[in-house]
Amino acid sequence: MSRRVLVTGGASGIGARIAERFAELGDAVAICDANASSVAAFAEANPTIRTGVADVSDGASMDAYLTSIENAWGGVDIVFANAGTGGPAARIEDIALDDWKSCIAVNLDGAFLTCRWAARLMRAQQSGLIVLTSSTSGQWGHPHRSPYAAAKWGILGLMKTLAMELGPAGVRVNAICPGAVEGDRMERMLTNQSRASGKDTEQIRAAYADGTSLRTWVTADDIADAGIWLASPGASKVSGQALTIDGHTETNSA
Ligand code: NAD
Repeated sequence: MSRRVLVTGGASGIGARIAERFAELGDAVAICDANASSVAAFAEANPTIRTGVADVSDGASMDAYLTSIENAWGGVDIVFANAGTGGPAARIEDIALDDWKSCIAVNLDGAFLTCRWAARLMRAQQSGLIVLTSSTSGQWGHPHRSPYAAAKWGILGLMKTLAMELGPAGVRVNAICPGAVEGDRMERMLTNQSRASGKDTEQIRAAYADGTSLRTWVTADDIADAGIWLASPGASKVSGQALTIDGHTETNSA
């Protein structure tokens, strides 16, 4: 049975892999992303996936995009509120208010706007699944990443509350907390964290793996696997949970 699956921040990284994996299962998939050139490249590589340019932190932009999806599909079965940004990497004394606000806006306002839309449609359907992307930074503190850690903890509060609000309507709400995921984003973060902490990039890379019991980074496919399981009948009683995919973080002080 084909499901209608929406992924925000879906043109690259984890979101792109989630979208591709659901499309491979035969589901109808749509992504949006703020980066127009990433969207164009993703659309070319994935012609069966519906694509749109939208900024999750902008109410008007999301209204226009989400209305187009609603008009096309009439509802939605699975929503990944995945778009996020790492924000500034610096000691709190050195973080500008605008940089704090833009990190909170993409990570939290974006999740709010996406979930508000999904909740309305799913409550009317009396079915659906919302999966928010938090982070191990949303379960631990993260030195030099205070706006990001605060936003990702906020995601878990939103997830828990929506699971309570929507559970009686047959809608499940969960979060995935990835550890350090191989890919372009973490390469950028390693460079920024190296600048903020004075540590060598390779030292930080190794510290991420050494801080886990399995001594590992994770992949976008590991995260997509978790999303596919949450959307499967085997997870039909799973709601209100933060599913951590990280090789078991022991310390997040990289
Ligand atoms: P990524 O940078 O590869 O992909 C994020 C995508 O979101 C990009 O395509 C980007 O253009 C898009 N995006 C950014 N701001 C946006 C906005 N305002 N509106 C719409 N789209 C926007 O990063 P990723 O690693 O795939 O991250 C995906 C999610 O996973 C994020 O929420 C991130 O915080 C979270 N996460 C990532 C890691 C990791 O190690 N990569 C770890 C924990 C959590």
